[in-house]
Amino acid sequence: MTPNLQNADLIIKSQTKQLSSTLKDILIVDDTIENLRLLSSILSKQGYNVRKATGGKMALKVVETLPPDLIMLDIMMADMSGYEVCQALKENPRTVDIPVIFLSALDDVFDKVKAFEMGGVDYISKPFQMEEVLVRVKNQLAFRTAQKEVYQLNTKLEQRVEERTQQLQKANERLQEMALYDSLTGLANRNLLVEQLKQSLALSKLNESYQFAVLFLDCDRFKIINDSLGHLVGNLLLQNIGKALQTILGKNDILARLGGDEFAILLADISDENQAKQLAKNILDLLKNPFNCNEQEIFINISIGIVFGHSNYDTPETIIRDADMAMYKAKSLGRGQYQIFTPKMYEIAQKLLILQTDLNRAIQQEEFTVYYQPIIDLKQNKIAGFEALIRWLHPQKGMISPTEFIPVAEETGLICEIGRWVMKEACYQLSQWHQQGFTDLKVYINLAAQQLNQRNLVAEIDGILMETQLHTSSIKLEITESSMMQDLQTTKALLGELRERGIKLSIDDFGTGYSSLSQLQTFSVNTLKIDRSFLKNVDSNSKNLGLVPVILSIAEVMTMDVVAEGIETSEQLEQLRKLGCHFGQGFLFAKPLDAEAATQLIHENPQW
Ligand code: C2E
Ligand code: MG
Ligand code: MG
Repeated sequence: MTPNLQNADLIIKSQTKQLSSTLKDILIVDDTIENLRLLSSILSKQGYNVRKATGGKMALKVVETLPPDLIMLDIMMADMSGYEVCQALKENPRTVDIPVIFLSALDDVFDKVKAFEMGGVDYISKPFQMEEVLVRVKNQLAFRTAQKEVYQLNTKLEQRVEERTQQLQKANERLQEMALYDSLTGLANRNLLVEQLKQSLALSKLNESYQFAVLFLDCDRFKIINDSLGHLVGNLLLQNIGKALQTILGKNDILARLGGDEFAILLADISDENQAKQLAKNILDLLKNPFNCNEQEIFINISIGIVFGHSNYDTPETIIRDADMAMYKAKSLGRGQYQIFTPKMYEIAQKLLILQTDLNRAIQQEEFTVYYQPIIDLKQNKIAGFEALIRWLHPQKGMISPTEFIPVAEETGLICEIGRWVMKEACYQLSQWHQQGFTDLKVYINLAAQQLNQRNLVAEIDGILMETQLHTSSIKLEITESSMMQDLQTTKALLGELRERGIKLSIDDFGTGYSSLSQLQTFSVNTLKIDRSFLKNVDSNSKNLGLVPVILSIAEVMTMDVVAEGIETSEQLEQLRKLGCHFGQGFLFAKPLDAEAATQLIHENPQW
């Protein structure tokens, strides 16, 4: 080995170590056996795996079966020229990337330009200078390795980008879904409904004969289910309702959950209004069957408001609002039914809204006052007590009747606060009268249905009685038949607690509701107040007594007191006395009076 070669040997050895851990595979193509041997021995010593081919055709075959990392290609060969071989390699996708170094003899007519054009990466002239051979081989292999790495990195990068794009796409789809669908039921949500309504509105503006309708559905007393059976059952019920509704809808109808226990249906193309009404009826029919939720059979009613879309509407929101309003009307008419929106409803709703706002203010500004109407002991001919009747002194509208604002206060829940205030005020007034010596007087206080469900009602009453130092027998609570029947379990428990304390109970407006007599007995009702409608036709003619004698005898059998409400004439009074009615109340004796006038009345001690 010449010193030159030894040098090269050293350089290359140290560098190949760093180059790559895998064995590099080099194919030498030359039809001069001597050249083949020389080159292969040099390269093998450097740790390369060397293969040999003695002609162009053979080379192409070898390459095809196992592509090497590098090809050293002689130009002048008997069967094919190196250029041709190279060209064939570059045309084959399997071999196109393999670097080719041309080997050329000095006396060859070597066309460098052509060599590069054919895809060669380098050339080495014969006779070989070993250092040069090794450096060029090493460089090309290093370059090739780097190229491969870059390629691999690139593919990895592309893969990552692809993956991330897919993830983003999925997240995006999910976001879109969330924005348009309700997560609990999988139904459309308000956003999607609004979008669809926009389309329907646009269509109705283009085509006069196009009709659509929206049904607004709200579950009746859903809160009770949630409160008593838990949210999970409540959610299950909502899901089941959604599924059941789907089964009776056409494929073009859109069912949406608006939130809470509210659903809406868009009938996007109807030929006449009866279609919407029929659907409402079908829904009400559907709900005659119970839903099975967690092994529990649950019956639920739905109130439905229907609005017919037309080109007068400008926004989806107003359509939904009107459907909602019609639903509200259905609810107020006794739930479990449907109503069709009319503009009148809107007017009323506006007024109600104003009333609600005013009511809130009235509580804060203490615009209420309590009036007292005497209840007369018809046997002893003296005042037995007073019914406390609230009045609202509205700063602009003057005195507003409780029949107008109590229902609104009940709807908004303000009634509990108002009721508490009335009770406090009335008890305070009664304690004043007791202090003035009229210790037999009682006060009758009206309780709204909602107050019966108020958990702390009894505690509140206890507190007020303590504060005013009144005996429990001094107050009588009036509840109407219908509110007593609303939630029998709760009422029963409450009335039990009141009875324990010796607080007496009156049934107000008796005869207008549907309570059964046996229930009145189990509730230990003390007093029946005969509704004034029963006295309307009562006059001096005993044929016109109507049901009054019947009610009186029922009360007698059940050992209850009776107060006849609405006595306006002396004939009515006389008949009632004849029938043995114990107590009476009405304009004949006195209208509801303010505290001062009522106090004056007691002191006057009038006789009737
Ligand atoms: P109610 O409890 O049945 O009260 C009797 C109503 O009949 C009173 O009307 C009274 O003014 C009226 N009235 C009494 N005698 C006669 C009569 O001879 N002829 C006629 N035509 N009417 C008579 P008011 O004060 O307008 O109260 C109406 C209703 O409002 C009450 O009916 C009661 O249900 C409710 N209410 C009044 N105050 C309160 C209250 O503090 N709380 C609650 N929850 N409801 C109240
Ligand atoms: Mg009353
Ligand atoms: Mg009454």
